This record gives sequence, structure tokens and C-alpha cells, in this order.
Amino acid sequence: MKKEKINMNKKLATNFRLREFYNPNDKGTTWRDRDGNTVTVRPMPAQELVDTLQAIRSRINKPVHLTSGVRSEQRNAQVRGSARSAHMSGHAADFVVHGMTATQLFNVVRAMHGYGMLPHLAFCYRISSTVLHVGVDVWIRRNSIWG
Ligand SMILES: [Zn+2]
Repeated sequence: MKKEKINMNKKLATNFRLREFYNPNDKGTTWRDRDGNTVTVRPMPAQELVDTLQAIRSRINKPVHLTSGVRSEQRNAQVRGSARSAHMSGHAADFVVHGMTATQLFNVVRAMHGYGMLPHLAFCYRISSTVLHVGVDVWIRRNSIWG
């Protein structure tokens, strides 16, 4: 199997690099290939997710800090994510913005969604008083959003 080194510094959007989407403690999903080498797999974040986060970031003009992006199955279980969490396929991210509450962030996202600025947004809800979850659906645009 051809091994490709992942460049974690790869820029995915103006203000987001690949590294930001992975928790340093997440070892990824590993198994052994036919040659006995351990292979690590990490799903890429969906470009639709990156675009959604960049649009939000550009709108509020403040750094967006991802608290949880792409998770391996093991990591998802550790953090008690739902069994079919969109974090495992790179379609969801949780984030904080310093100086803003989750409710303030939610209101920004809801307004942007209302203006059609977030065409891939499928889910948005508050995880805590500061953390907001956004999920994208790349196949179907669902007009569902809740707090
Ligand atoms: Zn989440």
C-alpha cells in the first residue's frame, strides 16, 4: 500500500488549516495492512464543513477555535459522541469564539442561514454555554436548524 504523508499544515481555507480539525490525542483509526504495517486513517473534513466555518469566521471577523472536529470511532466513544456522529465522517465541528456565548454564535449562524449564506448547513445547536455544533449535509440540503 502506498503511504502518503499528510501535511497537517495544509490550508483548507483562508483561516483554517488541516491540523485544527484533529485532536492531538486522537490516534486515528489503525489497522494492519497485508504487509503487516500499521496503517492510520483519518477522514478529511468535508470541504462543505470548511466552507461553512470559514463563512462564519469571515462574518464575525474573530478567530474560530475548533474544540472538536474530525473524530476516530475510538475518540468519538471516549467523548461519548453519538454512535452515528457526523464528527466521524468530517461533517461536523464544535467551536468556540472568545468573547461570544454559544447563544450569540447561534444567532449569527441562524441569521446567516436565513440569508442563504450557509447552503450546506444541516444542523446547529449549542453544546454548552460557549460551544456551538455545526453539521453539514453534502447530499441533501435540509432546512433544519435548532438551538
Ligand atoms: Zn459536535
